[in-house]
Amino acid sequence: MAKVIGIDLGTTNSCVSVLENGEPLVIPNDEGARTTPSVVAFPQATDRIVGAIARRQAVTNAQRTVHAAKRLIGRRYEDEETQRTRQMVPYPVVETPNGDAWLSIGGTEYSPQQISAMVVEKMKQVAEAYLGEKVTEAVITVPAYFNDAQRQATRDAGRIVGLDVLRIINEPTAAALAYGFGKTGHERVAVFDLGGGTFDVSILEIDNGVFEVRATNGDTFLGGEDFDSRIVQYLLDTFRSETGTDLAGDPVALQRIREAAEKAKHELSNVTETEIHLPFIAVTSQGPMHLMTSLARAQLEGLVADLIDRLDAPCVSALRDARMRPSDLNAVLLVGGMTRMPRVQERVAQIFGIEPERGINPDEVVALGAAIQASVLKGEVKDVLLLDVTPLSLGIETAGGTFEPIILRNTTIPCRKSKVFTTAQDNQDMVRVHIGQGEREMSNDNMSLGFLELSGLPPAPRGLPEIEVMFELDSNGILHVHAKDKGTGRSQSTRIVSNSGLSPGEIDQMIADAETHHARDKERRAVAEARNQLDGLIYSTRRSLEEYAELVPPSDAQAIREAIARAESALDGGSTDLLGHARETLAMSAQRLSESIYAAARRDTGGYGGAPGLGAGPLVSIEDDVVDDEV
Ligand code: AMP
Repeated sequence: MAKVIGIDLGTTNSCVSVLENGEPLVIPNDEGARTTPSVVAFPQATDRIVGAIARRQAVTNAQRTVHAAKRLIGRRYEDEETQRTRQMVPYPVVETPNGDAWLSIGGTEYSPQQISAMVVEKMKQVAEAYLGEKVTEAVITVPAYFNDAQRQATRDAGRIVGLDVLRIINEPTAAALAYGFGKTGHERVAVFDLGGGTFDVSILEIDNGVFEVRATNGDTFLGGEDFDSRIVQYLLDTFRSETGTDLAGDPVALQRIREAAEKAKHELSNVTETEIHLPFIAVTSQGPMHLMTSLARAQLEGLVADLIDRLDAPCVSALRDARMRPSDLNAVLLVGGMTRMPRVQERVAQIFGIEPERGINPDEVVALGAAIQASVLKGEVKDVLLLDVTPLSLGIETAGGTFEPIILRNTTIPCRKSKVFTTAQDNQDMVRVHIGQGEREMSNDNMSLGFLELSGLPPAPRGLPEIEVMFELDSNGILHVHAKDKGTGRSQSTRIVSNSGLSPGEIDQMIADAETHHARDKERRAVAEARNQLDGLIYSTRRSLEEYAELVPPSDAQAIREAIARAESALDGGSTDLLGHARETLAMSAQRLSESIYAAARRDTGGYGGAPGLGAGPLVSIEDDVVDDEV
C-alpha cells in the first residue's frame, strides 16, 4: 500500500513523518536536517528555491524571500493579523478584488496557499526521496485556532501539489497523539504549544487509545517573532543611542538584525550570555559602522517579561473549561521551538504545578502525530480514536434578538444536537432560522453564519407549532443545519461552514467580549425575555377578550382594553422592572376576564372551550434542554 505522510506545516519550519514498522519517524531532508525552513525565495523571475537554501540567501534578497506565508493563509486583507504581518515582512502584501490577502514578489502576485504549496511540495519530495515511491496522500496539521477558511486554504495548498489531504488536524492534538500512541491506561495531559507565530494550549484526556480534547485556548498574537521583535528593538535603540544612527529604515540591516536577534535568542536557551556581531551594518559619512554588543539571558528575560505573563490566562481558561485542576494532570507536553527558552519552561511548571515532559522533541512531535493520524485514516493503525472540539458556541437567534446556543464551545466533534422552538406570530407560514456563532447573549453581537428558511407551515396560532432545529458538526468543522416542523414533517437543510471568515483573533476577541459584556448582556437578555412575556400576555388576553366578549360585563371589558393599551405602551420600555410591573398589572385585570369565563362555564355546566394558546415571542424556545444525539 502506498505510504501516507504527516506534514507539520509550520510558520518557521516544517517537518514530515511517516509510519514505518508501526512507529512514526521523522524523514530527514536532502541536507540531513530533520526540519526544513518554511521559506520560499524567487532569486530570478523564473527561479524558485525552498527551505534552508532559500533562508540562507534571505539577507541579500529580502524582498524576494517569503518566510511567513502561514500568517497570511486563509486571511482577509483587512484582518488585524494581515496588517501586523504587513509591518513585519519586507515584501508588499496586496488585497485581491474579493478582499483576500496575497503577496507580491518582484511584480508577480502569489496567494499564501501557493507559497505554502511550494513548502508542502518540498516536504513531499523529501518523503518521496526517502520512500522511493510517489506520495499522493497526507495529513496536514494546523493551529487549533485556525478557522475554516484557514483550514480550507491549507488543504488547498496540499491539493495544488497533487496531494489528497485526508484530514486537517490540530497541532496540539497531533502532539498528544504522538505522546500517547501505544500507551495503555488513562492520562490527562496539557499540550503547551508556543511556536513562531501563535500560542495554543489544549487539555486532553487519553484513555486506552481514545484521545479526547477537553478544551482548547490560546493567543493568536503571541509567538517567537514577538520575542525576536523585542530583541530587535533593543538592538536598534542601543545602536541609535551609541552612534546616533537609526537603522530602522534600512531593510537589509533590519533583516540582518532580525536574524542575529533570533540566533541570540536560541543561544540564550543554552548559555547565559551571548555576543552579537554585525560588522558593516551601516556606512555613514564617518565610514563603516559595526554593531557589536552582548546580551545576557537575564536581560532577555527582562525584555520579554510581559510576553511571559501572557502565557498564564489561556492555560487557566483551558483548565477551567476542561473542569480540571492542575493536580488532575499527569503530564504537560511542550511543543514549538519557543518552549526551549528556560523562562518559558519555568513558567509552564509554575502554571501547571508539574515539570514538563522531557524526551519529546518540540519540533518533531506534531509531524509524528500527523503520521499516526494518517495511518489511522488508512486503517493501518487500529484502536486509536481522535476526538477534537469546536472553539466557539453555535446557535440561533430567538425572539427579541437573544442568542440560543445549540452546540456549546469546547464540545467534542463530530456531534449532533437539537432543540425545539416555536413560532412568534399567528399563522406564520415560514420560519427564518438565523444561525450564529459566539459567546454573547444577544445574536447581533455574535458572528452571523447564515439563514435557513422553513416554509409551507399550516396556519396555526403562535406558540403551537413545534420546530426542531438540529445542528450537526462534522470532524472537519463543517456545520450542517436541519429544521423540521414536527407537526407536518416538513423539513429543510443547509450546510454552513462553521467559522468561515472568522479569524482566530476575532474568536479570541469574541470570547473576551463575552466575558467583559457578560453583565450587560444578561440585562439585555432579561429585558428581551420580559418583553416577550408581556407581549405573550397581551396577545392571549386580547384573544380571549375577543373570543369571550359576550361573557364579560362591558365595564370590565373596557377596563381590560385600557390595561392592554397601557401594557402595549410599556412594551417599548427598556427596563425589566417596568415590563414586569406592566405584566403584573395586566395579569390582574385579565383575572376579571378569567373570572367571567369560569363563571359562564360553571353556568353552562360544561368545559372551558377553546382555551387560548399561550403566546410567546421569530422562533421561541420551548424546551430548555438541548437534545444530545448519538452521531
Ligand atoms: P515553530 O513554529 O514551532 O517552528 O517555532 C519556531 C519558534 O521557536 C521561532 O520563533 C524560533 O525562534 C523559536 N526557537 C527555536 N529554537 C529555539 C531555542 N533554542 N530557543 C528559543 N527559541 C527557539
